Amino acid sequence: MVSVTKFYLIYQDQPDMDYKTLCSRLWEMQNQVRQAKNTIASEMYLHIVKKAEGYPEPDLYSIVKSKLPYSNTGNISSLQQKISKKLKTEWKDILRGDRSIPSFGKDQPIPLHNKSIAFSQENGKYYMTLSLFSNEGVKQYGLVNGRCTFEIFHKCESSIAIVERCLSGEYRHCDSELQYDRRKRQWCMALSYKFEKDKPELNPDRVLGLDLGVLVPIAAAINDSRKEFMIGSNEIERFRAKTEEMRRQIKMSRPVAGDGSVGHGYYTRMAPAERIGKRIANFRDTKNHAWSRWIVEVAVKNQCGVIQMEDLTGISNAEDKKFLRTWSYYDLQNKIEYKAKANGIKVRYIEPQYTSQRCFSCGYISSRNLVEGHKFVCEKCGYTRHADINAAQNICIPGIEDMIKNSAKVK
Ligand SMILES: [Zn+2]
Repeated sequence: MVSVTKFYLIYQDQPDMDYKTLCSRLWEMQNQVRQAKNTIASEMYLHIVKKAEGYPEPDLYSIVKSKLPYSNTGNISSLQQKISKKLKTEWKDILRGDRSIPSFGKDQPIPLHNKSIAFSQENGKYYMTLSLFSNEGVKQYGLVNGRCTFEIFHKCESSIAIVERCLSGEYRHCDSELQYDRRKRQWCMALSYKFEKDKPELNPDRVLGLDLGVLVPIAAAINDSRKEFMIGSNEIERFRAKTEEMRRQIKMSRPVAGDGSVGHGYYTRMAPAERIGKRIANFRDTKNHAWSRWIVEVAVKNQCGVIQMEDLTGISNAEDKKFLRTWSYYDLQNKIEYKAKANGIKVRYIEPQYTSQRCFSCGYISSRNLVEGHKFVCEKCGYTRHADINAAQNICIPGIEDMIKNSAKVK
């Protein structure tokens, strides 16, 4: 991943060049960058439209070099690459007439090759040393070398952490740009840097079990921890009540209201109901996105390497899965699976039979263990829990299917 962060720079006056002189030289360089870019753009254009007449392909490096004679050669090739990449992507649009030939204004940023940037640290302060001038420049300006050192001005810890990581090699800085901020009257660096996306450590033996859709949309438990999670119960009830009320009102108003929608055919009459259908579908989609994101965040935060869910193909007859019939449960499962895999979490589907009737504490299985709908009370050992949490606790056990199969007594 590549990111860019801005840093303001405070020039450390050197005997061969004071700040005022540095500024005038860099401003001149900015102007030269502008000229180089504009020359390249027009030369490229001429080459393409007059190719048949033998108009030569411009030598971009030579153009940049001739416009910026005193600039570090690494920075020159960085500029050349940058502009040719920009033109290549825009060229088709330009020739079609969808875009005009780019024209570059004043205050162009000065490109810096990654090798022209070095970091250092001294007495708790951070510095950036930039190679700005070529050998010709050093000679022309009477410098010791073409390098200038700046203190990095930082407002917050997080931005200095980036510099520290560049110093330690954890981040690699890339070609970047130096620019003058007229408002703040200060030079600032748009530093580009590369880093590996942080992958959280996952424990392959830790399983997050999900019970989806009986009484609450998601109940979750972790096999080697006492943590439990539940989401969404009231949201759905409230939404269901609202849409049912809307449906009822439409039904009542149709025959008497005379709002023009009666008697104009089936589709006209059904339109309001259809709109409600769409609203429900949208609500489900939004909720499923939010819940799946939430559940995968829980898994990552708790370093669960596996998510176990019930395989619900063929569950339609199951009496205890009331919620499933009204909610696009498969969509929720798909979204969870997709997001889990993107985070390196494995997804396993288990046989759903008896997961809600089994007592997590003693393993006793009976339909009579479920009482009063949302409560689980074990007939045998008295273990009492929210029914969905008990189910999730069962679902997160690795090898739960065999345990259930081998269970001596199934009522
Ligand atoms: Zn029990």
